[in-house]
Amino acid sequence: MNNFSHFNKFSQLNVLLVYAHADDEVLPAAGTLRLMSNAGWNIHCLILTDGSYSSSSIKGTRHKEAEAAGKIIGATYDFYTFEECNFSTQAVIKVTEEAIKHCQPDLIITHAPQPEKYGHRDHEVCAIAVSNVATRKNISLWYSAPPVFLRGFEPNFFVDITSVIDEKIAAINCYESEYEKTFMQLDAILVLSRFWARELGQKDGYFEAFEISRQWVNASFFSVLTHSKNNIRVFS
Ligand SMILES: [Zn+2]
Repeated sequence: MNNFSHFNKFSQLNVLLVYAHADDEVLPAAGTLRLMSNAGWNIHCLILTDGSYSSSSIKGTRHKEAEAAGKIIGATYDFYTFEECNFSTQAVIKVTEEAIKHCQPDLIITHAPQPEKYGHRDHEVCAIAVSNVATRKNISLWYSAPPVFLRGFEPNFFVDITSVIDEKIAAINCYESEYEKTFMQLDAILVLSRFWARELGQKDGYFEAFEISRQWVNASFFSVLTHSKNNIRVFS
C-alpha cells in the first residue's frame, strides 16, 4: 500500500528516487536517505543519464561514484543512458512506470519543478514527468531542494540530519568528478544544511528540506506517531 500503514508493523517501505544525473540524489537528500535505510527502508535510485555528456573534466566514473555513494546511504541504482539536455517527458514517464512496476514504491522523490530559466532543463523535464506518473498512480511524492536558485521550491517538510551529517558529506565526496561544482563543496553543503535549520529557528544542527507534493496516510499514522513520541523526539 502506498501509505504509512506499515509503520506499526515495522515492515519495510520502498522509496524510489528519480533524478536526471548521478549526484542529484546525494546533495539534497543523502542524510534523509541514510536515516531511511537505517530504519530498514529499501532505497532505489533511477538515474536518467550516465554522465557521458557532462562538462566535468573527469569522464566515465559516474557509475562507480554512485555505487560508492550508495554504500554509504544504503541505496541501489539503475542507470539509463539518456542524452543530457535531449530527452523527453514521454521517455521519463515510460522508465518511471517501469521502475514502479519493479519496486512498488510507497514514496517517490524527485526534483522540484521550477519556473523556466531557474531550473536545469533536465531537472525540469524529470520533475514534470515523474509528477505526472506519481499523481496518476496515487503514490506519495516529495520534491527535494534544487542545488542552486531555490525559486519555486516551497519546503514544508524538514528532516534533522545532524546525526548523519558526516555520512552525507562522505556520500557527496564520492562524486569526485563533480567536485568542481561549487555547490558540491563542503562549505556550500554545510551552509545550506544550516540555512534550513535557521529557517526552523534551530540554533544548531543540520537539516534537509523537502516539499511534499502529495502524501497520504491511514488512521494508524497518528497513533504510531504518538507511540514514537513517548520514546523518541519526533517533533521539534
Ligand atoms: Zn542534475
